[in-house]
Amino acid sequence: MYQLPYFKLLAQASGTTTVKERYDIDRHDQRLRTLRLLSILVTIFYFSYIPVDMYLLPDIGLRSVLLRIFVVGPLVILMLYYFGRPGPIRHKELASIITVSLATLIWCLGLLGTSDPRVLHYFYAGLVFQLALTIVLAHPFEYSVYASIFLCVCLYTIIWFLPGADAEYVTNHLVVGVPTVVLTLMANYRFSAESLRLYLQRVNAEELRAELALHNETLDKLSHIDPLTGLANRRGLNRRAASLTRSRHVPDQYVAVILIDVDHFKAFNDAYGHDAGDDCLRKIASALQGACGPQDTACRYGGEEFLVLHADSSNSGITGALLAERIRETVAKLDIAHRKSDHGHVTVSVGVCAGLLEHDEALTHLIKAADQALYAAKDTGRNRVSEDQNGSLADV
Ligand code: GH3
Ligand code: MG
Ligand code: MG
Repeated sequence: MYQLPYFKLLAQASGTTTVKERYDIDRHDQRLRTLRLLSILVTIFYFSYIPVDMYLLPDIGLRSVLLRIFVVGPLVILMLYYFGRPGPIRHKELASIITVSLATLIWCLGLLGTSDPRVLHYFYAGLVFQLALTIVLAHPFEYSVYASIFLCVCLYTIIWFLPGADAEYVTNHLVVGVPTVVLTLMANYRFSAESLRLYLQRVNAEELRAELALHNETLDKLSHIDPLTGLANRRGLNRRAASLTRSRHVPDQYVAVILIDVDHFKAFNDAYGHDAGDDCLRKIASALQGACGPQDTACRYGGEEFLVLHADSSNSGITGALLAERIRETVAKLDIAHRKSDHGHVTVSVGVCAGLLEHDEALTHLIKAADQALYAAKDTGRNRVSEDQNGSLADV
């Protein structure tokens, strides 16, 4: 069976629910605000017709005042009270439709008591209810259709009982009434479908944005991580250093740069193969991480070179030199066989330099100094820690 696109969209699945349910939940607050405001405006408009009734049809003037104040007034108050209660927006829209429909019926019934033939001109004003329902209050299309049918039944039943109404008058009224109802319903459909389409576009854009943010986050993480070892790479190191530089503790806090280089690693690769070399680097990386504290950042600085940025903000007393020695020992204890090494297993040489990270270039200076210390460790036999102390190197 043919279904209007608006209803097709509403029936579509959206996650575990349908578009209709999600749409109704998401539009609740905003729709309720406008519905409340528009209902009050329409009510004011409705009550402002009292003097018109009294002027045009004085014989039912009092009845019109009483009906509006004592019947429609409480109905509107009841509806506004219902708006304030928790519940789905569609129920509230239904309450609004029922109120307007009853107001229409009461208006029509009120006119029945007049014997003034001028009521025939006035009766055209009944179509204003149709405008209020479909254009001003802009209820969902399906509700607007039901309400329009009710309104037509009301108007075109009561019309026959008005003084002086005949087939010619009813035809005249229909000539204005039918196009009004059809055209306002068409406008209402367009409005309902367009609102839904815009809503779905917004949801789609929000979902894409969230997905993009997630991808960006993953990319950002990946771009700061070394894929072989899972440690931070140079970018990760720079970010950590920058955050330490910005941090308030830093001006009075020393950091230590610990540069670690695997001894005779080329020979290791030659002896055991590149894959075994990769495996060895992964084991060393994991040992490094185990030796480091939570404030420290271990990174893969280059091929077989690692760097630890030691920031002892908890004042645990572990100096850079102590941590460097711990790292050297931990790697040695891994006991990764290396037949080309004098020790028979893989060892590392370590250079350390401590200093302040007060500005962005400070890290580069510290790394340079740690590199010199590392050279010194290599020169003096490897498998050792060498510390840069204000330019003069000291073995630990
Ligand atoms: P030294 O004790 O002086 O540091 O000698 P070395 O052989 O360790 O130093 P060298 O700079 O001569 O060689 C480093 C080697 O590290 C060469 C290169 O093949 C190897 N290497 C660098 N990156 C990787 C990697 O990702 N995987 C593997 N398996 N080997 C790597
Ligand atoms: Mg090297
Ligand atoms: Mg090396």
